[in-house]
Amino acid sequence: MDKKVRKLLKGIVGPENFSEGESARRCYSYDATRLESAPDVVVWPETAGQVASILGLANEYRIPVFPRGAGSGFTGGSIPTTGGIALCLTKMNRILGIDAANLVATVEPGVINADLRRAVEKKGLFYPPDPASLNFSTIGGNVAECAGGPTCVKYGVTRSYVLGLEVVLATGETTRVGRPLVKNVAGYDLVRLFCGSEGTLGVITQINLRLIPLPEAKTTIMAVFPSVDAAAKTVACTVESRILPCALEFMDGTCIHAVEKHTQMGLPSNAGAILIIEADGPARVLAEQRQRIESICKECGAVSVESADDEDAREELWKARRALSPAVSSLAPRKINEDVGVPPSRIPELLRRVDDVAGEMDLIIANFGHAGDGNIHVNILYDPEVDGMQARAEKASVLVFETALELDGTITGEHGIGITKVGFLERQIGRTQLDLMRGVKRVFDPNNILNPGKVF
Ligand SMILES: Cc1cc2nc3c(=O)[nH]c(=O)nc-3n(C[C@H](O)[C@H](O)[C@H](O)COP(=O)(O)OP(=O)(O)OC[C@H]3O[C@@H](n4cnc5c(N)ncnc54)[C@H](O)[C@@H]3O)c2cc1C
Repeated sequence: MDKKVRKLLKGIVGPENFSEGESARRCYSYDATRLESAPDVVVWPETAGQVASILGLANEYRIPVFPRGAGSGFTGGSIPTTGGIALCLTKMNRILGIDAANLVATVEPGVINADLRRAVEKKGLFYPPDPASLNFSTIGGNVAECAGGPTCVKYGVTRSYVLGLEVVLATGETTRVGRPLVKNVAGYDLVRLFCGSEGTLGVITQINLRLIPLPEAKTTIMAVFPSVDAAAKTVACTVESRILPCALEFMDGTCIHAVEKHTQMGLPSNAGAILIIEADGPARVLAEQRQRIESICKECGAVSVESADDEDAREELWKARRALSPAVSSLAPRKINEDVGVPPSRIPELLRRVDDVAGEMDLIIANFGHAGDGNIHVNILYDPEVDGMQARAEKASVLVFETALELDGTITGEHGIGITKVGFLERQIGRTQLDLMRGVKRVFDPNNILNPGKVF
């Protein structure tokens, strides 16, 4: 990037919001994948007007721009793969309004998910999307990835809550798509197009989010099973008995062992699976629901069932689930974390086949995830120092994708394509749709300056 452009960028955001120093370039070169590629410069715009000027300039000089929230993505979406500008939205972090009369929150993209949840809860309202990264990931990043979390089983993913967006296009033009309305069918649904577009179609600078009333109470149940099949049967029976939990999380024996080793919280290390089931709603209905869920767990073979209603005790039960990511990471120097999805009734088949892949490739694979919506995190563990092990892990990852697709599933339920799954998108959607998507990209970003190399 030449000196003139650097100077112009500095002029747009001010010297305090511009850096070309080595440390900033390193800090903004990676995300949760641990892949790395440094930008030429980092900018932290504070207004949509500044974002528009940056994109206008970048488009004129054909400089790649890499939008970025907290950089917690699992597929390399925010990594500046070809130098250029790291466009960091974290200083645009104001909650602009919470309209309790119309159940709408309006936020800037850099607002942290948990901060929004806390702010709306104070008004008796609820913003359900809850990725496990909610304490640090941004709403802009959540929208761009269409993030999900445990509550999806009942409340749906991020896109179910996005009503309207202000977006700066690659040309530097600013536009508003959608409106703060639940019902609005004027023209194509561009709001949905931007949800999950991974920073390739425009930079989101403002978001209108749908809110719902905060459920009165919650009850949490943790059940330990001797086998994955017994846990899977419990999931099926819960769904068949017309109970809709607000979370139905699963972890297999390898994960239980890892969590116990990591936390010594007293989990039975030899158990086959654990389910954490949570229900919410009016307190008078919940007691009955809890009893029904507990009975289903026992009938399906649970060896222990614990439940809790007050917040501290519920949090204790969630501790094992929250410790999972670091615990599984501690099992091996590296892991490939895939987030395939299948129809929930096919989870047992998916897990059996993943087990076969682990045997065939001579690897440890730890599985956990959102049993209620079929989104399972398949963690393929390996040591790059062991001869041939990385290649076996990569092969295992391909076999897992193929298995998910054969079971009517998806290669990604919530992490997106980014750079890590680029080669696999066509296998899921086919050539015709891939060409349509490329056409859409060309319309929005004719010079391919926005997050080039991502998704396609
Ligand atoms: C421990 C851990 C747990 C996680 N758990 C979950 C989970 O349960 N569910 C889940 O879905 N994900 C999860 N993730 C992945 C990640 O947190 C989500 O994808 C999250 O939505 C990314 O938000 P971010 O602010 O970090 O975005 P980044 O990682 O910075 O960016 C993600 C993508 O969004 C684009 N982007 C960011 N901001 C904008 C913007 N304003 N306009 C346009 N494009 C933009 C970027 O270019 C990039 O393509 C987890 C990650 C970690 C590390």
